[in-house]
Amino acid sequence: MAMHLQNHIDGRWVDSVSGETFDDTDPANGELIATATKSTTADVDRAVEAARKAYDGWRLYPAPKRGEILFRAGQILVERKDELAREMTREMGKVLAETRGDVQEGIDMTYYMAGEGRRQFGDVVPSELPNKWAMSMRHPVGVVAAITPWNFPLAIPTWKIMPALVLGNTIVFKPASYIPLLAVRLVQVLEEAGLPPGVLNLVLGSGAELGDHLVTHPGIDLISFTGSSDTGSHINEIAGKLLKRVSCELGGKNAIVVMDDANVDLAVEGILWSAFGTSGQRCTAASRVVADRGVATELVDKLVGRTKKMRLGHGLDDGTDIGPVVSKAQLEKVHSYIPIAEKEGATVAAGGKVPSSGALAKGFFHEPTILTDVKPNMRVAQEEIFGPVASVIEATNVEEAIRVVNSTKYGLSCSIYTQDVNKAFQFMRDAECGIVYVNAGTIGAEIQLPFGGMKSTGNGHREAGRAAMDVYSEWKSIYVDFSGKLQRAQMDTLEKTGTAP
Ligand code: NDP
Repeated sequence: MAMHLQNHIDGRWVDSVSGETFDDTDPANGELIATATKSTTADVDRAVEAARKAYDGWRLYPAPKRGEILFRAGQILVERKDELAREMTREMGKVLAETRGDVQEGIDMTYYMAGEGRRQFGDVVPSELPNKWAMSMRHPVGVVAAITPWNFPLAIPTWKIMPALVLGNTIVFKPASYIPLLAVRLVQVLEEAGLPPGVLNLVLGSGAELGDHLVTHPGIDLISFTGSSDTGSHINEIAGKLLKRVSCELGGKNAIVVMDDANVDLAVEGILWSAFGTSGQRCTAASRVVADRGVATELVDKLVGRTKKMRLGHGLDDGTDIGPVVSKAQLEKVHSYIPIAEKEGATVAAGGKVPSSGALAKGFFHEPTILTDVKPNMRVAQEEIFGPVASVIEATNVEEAIRVVNSTKYGLSCSIYTQDVNKAFQFMRDAECGIVYVNAGTIGAEIQLPFGGMKSTGNGHREAGRAAMDVYSEWKSIYVDFSGKLQRAQMDTLEKTGTAP
């Protein structure tokens, strides 16, 4: 029998006041996994109220103790890694090795942020005046709305929830509607780890119906969003108007450059992994390959040969290279780019089809696709497709390759394959991307460095690593004057204060 999934508000598992549900299904075969409660704005109000009520208690709970709860959550995630990965593959399609990686990333982030319970460093700096102390400390922002997508059902929520918690914020968590089960699992883990009621509240339901209400709610102080550029831009607009803090992590149009001195076989491995992992549904997926003319023919031949051999299938089956995309809508969106590409003059060198018979026809599968004869300004080279489609663009030298890399509105991840250290350093310096790889693909970020992009990929914030701490806290500068007299900064001389040497 299918499971039933509920909201988590003020420490209790509850149905929405609407009494309605939505289905959680396996994108590889349409099987029903669970029904989930479909929330209304009244449920959002309750969740925000619970988070506000819990805020002071949590803010004042010692940070090292908050960190210990996270540490226990990390241990539970380790114990459940395989179980969670299997459920994730069923819920959103990516293959088991990748869902294990998704859970592992969540574990890494949880342990990293657990350690922040005993760090959260501020500065103590000298004052210009005698007998005066100057220091800074972090202060939680308040109640955080964490709005997450479906492509990393566990990892991305931990990127938001763990730093927010360790810094003393409370949370309303609104996951994507395609993955309610993994969201419930994460909340269960934190509950079992000892998180007090109301600190983390979960609201399941449609972003289109609840989103604006949550984002503009007076009880919400910070919105942390990962998803499409359209939704991110909308949230930024309506929340920015209210001077709320907003952190947006949006799209990418990531490119891998292959120079003529590169190890081509290594580049082929990196391209296949970066373009087709998670069926291309990663914000860091490589959807452009910029090939130096001297290597283009060999590279394309090898890529096409390997792509044609990749096997579509259920992500739980051994031997599957690529799972389904997440939904019918996503499949239609991805596939719509094939005629767009052809009309603009591109050639489908491999793939390009939606399987229409056998077991694959029951799921949302799209063949891994290589497009050639692509020019940098074509739509397939500019727009985020978010599926297993990679476009090959040719360039004559490293300068032109860098211009192509930088020619989209996005700036998330990019990479160069070269054995020439000068070209590598030129690329590292000039690429307009938040994440740069040398001799590796565009995916595979680790949680201890900042994650995020330049230009329209975001609004200037970074997730992960130390940078995440800045999103979920405000800086407070504190001056303590123990001179017992009025001392005026920038005005009183040391002679006047009687402390000149
Ligand atoms: P969305 O940006 O619409 O969804 C991301 C999250 O935002 C989900 O939790 C969604 O809820 C929620 N949401 C939707 N509308 C609102 C709103 N008005 N206010 C607040 N929250 C809202 O992405 P989609 O899932 O629709 O995917 C569409 C495209 O977005 C993809 O094809 C891809 O190009 C891009 N995308 C990029 C991602 C990335 O990592 N860069 C991740 C996901 C998508 P709900 O699920 O209920 O709609």
